[in-house]
Amino acid sequence: MMNRISTSLLFAFAFVFLVGCEPWGEDKPFVFDAPWELVDAPAVGEEIRVLLYHDMEGLAGQDDPRTFSFSKPQYPEGQEMLAADINAVVDGLFAGGATVVHIVDGHGSGNPDPDLRTDLLDPRAQQVFRDEYFDAYFDLTEDDVYDAVGVVGMHAKTGSGGFASHTYTLGIDFLLNGQSITETELVGLSWGRANVPLIFASGDDRLENDLRTMPWIEFAQVKTATSASTADLRPVDEAHADMREAAKRAIENLANAKVMKVITPVRTTLRAVQPASLKLLEGVPGINYGEGSATFIAGSMQEAYDGFVALVGVATKNYVRLLYENLSAHPSGPEIMSAYRDSLFLRWFDVESERWQPEPEETSATPGRGHGYR
Ligand SMILES: [Zn+2]
Repeated sequence: MMNRISTSLLFAFAFVFLVGCEPWGEDKPFVFDAPWELVDAPAVGEEIRVLLYHDMEGLAGQDDPRTFSFSKPQYPEGQEMLAADINAVVDGLFAGGATVVHIVDGHGSGNPDPDLRTDLLDPRAQQVFRDEYFDAYFDLTEDDVYDAVGVVGMHAKTGSGGFASHTYTLGIDFLLNGQSITETELVGLSWGRANVPLIFASGDDRLENDLRTMPWIEFAQVKTATSASTADLRPVDEAHADMREAAKRAIENLANAKVMKVITPVRTTLRAVQPASLKLLEGVPGINYGEGSATFIAGSMQEAYDGFVALVGVATKNYVRLLYENLSAHPSGPEIMSAYRDSLFLRWFDVESERWQPEPEETSATPGRGHGYR
């Protein structure tokens, strides 16, 4: 315990640290007021067990957003790029000394099965499956199961101009003590609860820029974003070689990695931009809403995350406006809207007449087939 306290003090400089060199230039010093503190990663034993999250927007060779959506014909191509990226990282992790590598689906393409095809995965690595559905970012975090975590195919945060940049879902920005964070930092903070460091990430140049807050990680840049839907690609073999080397170094330098611990209480904000919106909350007494954002005080990282996810549920209700826009332009639109109004009345009458029962919530997966985000 003493060790933990002294290292906390040692890294209290994380409140304000400055990095002001290439490639960002002296004119734009990087000032970051961290909502977390950093502590040394615990010493590892003979086993080095790694959990690798994958997303699907920061893949090498990928410049077409249709490759990360299950409903698009280009998705199988995305699955192949995903497996190739993961295998390059898995190979590097084992080369660096990892003894166990597990993969978990952090994407959510709409595919009821994992985005990663098991037949394409390096057989030394295993995918995480559970009997119940689970939240990949928060429900897996346990003490003494993994020694390090990493993210592959990751994207930059909302507003950073990255390829498919977003946080959690479309139009959502997540802030802790006023600092906007990426999903990578969110994974780091979740695993910080179990004293596990995040050591590796891959994605575009904008994500690399976002992750200046985590200077100890090994980052492999696979492409340069030119807009949210376009990118300049690095040669794929070259990107894979870099990913492998970065993953190897990440394991070799594990002793220098930092664990991220949120400082509580933490002021937690969801800022919504189109197609999401929190405007529904405007004027609700007791809700701290202003300028598209809702803010609350959380006593733990779990509480911050749970409140954030609940607000995401409110903010994404605004997506339906686009559905109405589409319907009103569609030849069958008036007919569908009329059926919709009828169904609202029907539900009202059924509830008032006690004829209606809610559908039971689906929590159990096919045994052993819950795999993370769907
Ligand atoms: Zn993501």
